[in-house]
Amino acid sequence: MRTEVGAGARASRGPLRIALLGCGVVGSQVARLLAEQAVDLAARAGGPLEIAGIAVRRPELPRASGVDSSLFTTDPAELVTRPDVDIVVELIGGVEPARSLLLAALDAGTSVVTANKALLASDGAALHRAASANGADLYYEAAVAGAIPLLRALRESLAGDVVRRVLGIVNGTTNFILDQMDSLGSDFDAALGTAQRLGYAEADPAADVQGTDGAAKAAILAGLAFHTEVTSGDVFTEGISAITADDIASARALGFVIKLLAICERCDGGVSVRVHPAMIPRVHPLAAVHEAYNAVFVEATAAGRLMFYGAGAGGQPTASAVLGDVVAVARNRRAGLRGPEPARYAELPIVPMAEALTRYYISLDVADQPGVLAPVAEVFARRGVSIKAVRQEGRGEDASLIIVTHTARESALAGTVADLAAMPVVRAVGSVLRVEGEEGE
Ligand code: NAP
Repeated sequence: MRTEVGAGARASRGPLRIALLGCGVVGSQVARLLAEQAVDLAARAGGPLEIAGIAVRRPELPRASGVDSSLFTTDPAELVTRPDVDIVVELIGGVEPARSLLLAALDAGTSVVTANKALLASDGAALHRAASANGADLYYEAAVAGAIPLLRALRESLAGDVVRRVLGIVNGTTNFILDQMDSLGSDFDAALGTAQRLGYAEADPAADVQGTDGAAKAAILAGLAFHTEVTSGDVFTEGISAITADDIASARALGFVIKLLAICERCDGGVSVRVHPAMIPRVHPLAAVHEAYNAVFVEATAAGRLMFYGAGAGGQPTASAVLGDVVAVARNRRAGLRGPEPARYAELPIVPMAEALTRYYISLDVADQPGVLAPVAEVFARRGVSIKAVRQEGRGEDASLIIVTHTARESALAGTVADLAAMPVVRAVGSVLRVEGEEGE
């Protein structure tokens, strides 16, 4: 469904003018492709697309070839409110000043394209309200999974279905690190170092390895999938820095691989949204996602299982998604219409992590003595956590016990782990990892 644009809209055959905020990894590729593909883009957008100005912090820096530095300005606030600007493309990142700039643009009736997951996951509702109140478009395909056309699928293609679950790898940096650990047997620090050397991880990798980047993306995905307001603060988040080479080796021995997953699912009483490392069976399609690629499963009642796969980051792939949005917004403006808005009518409650249902892998260091398994199993039984598989390896006076459970409630598992830690025969509780992928897979 489309709605008519407000009074601020210009629906002419003349050029549509773009204010580009940021000319870094993504912005420079957007500027280059707008220049190099101008003829094709004009044909698809219904008329020429012109850059009115490019906001940067340091205009003196060298930029990618094809970027016209005569368009640079260090005053983004002036640029977004110029009367001849039709579309603001925000590729600065972070919450401020991006938030104020985009609200100023939307308040003036100017449509916005952004790749800014952090901003959308914290202030998406305010941006949508401003877009709606002023008859402007707000598009952000590039904010989740880079080049992969995933948000449009959730927002438009699946608008007639009931999405039950979105499960996937949405952070390429952590997938690269875990893939290195799995394929080379390296530990976390060595794999992170390789990722940094090859440009897959930032000098400050915190947002990636601590899971906050994934949490912002999960919030955006859950909001669209379940027609509900979700912010990154609603997302249970655990990163990968505690994953050891031993965890990876144990997972391998059990036929699993460890991935950082974003999981958004309907459950009793609402929706569960979480980002954490999880073991998945090696036969699961997500196990075959290597290096820095992204892949997302969407499960819907009528459509069944859909899988989206591709480059989740990088200047050019992300610019592809940004330009797709620019063309969509340009077509809307030419037609004097707005694109469809995500419907946030459902208001499903966010279920606390303690209520989440999943399976678990637990490694314990125990005394290597006869009969040690019985009291350990008794703790699981008392907490109502059913054991699926046990592996025991002797190591001198100690033994290592690896336990995989059937589906259990997070709170029951937490109680089990606390009880285990207090047992005299348990020397240490090693790793506790969630196991995803359906039972029997
Ligand atoms: P980046 O390389 O750091 O570029 C940021 C750009 O914004 C730079 O050109 C910088 O100017 C400019 N800038 C920063 N603060 C500014 C300010 N106050 N005023 C004017 N200009 C300012 O970032 P990026 O990697 O292109 O990412 C941009 C956005 O895309 C982020 O929201 C990011 O999350 C998202 N995204 C990125 C990727 C990716 O692969 N990189 C993938 C998906 C989504 P100077 O160059 O002068 O410093």
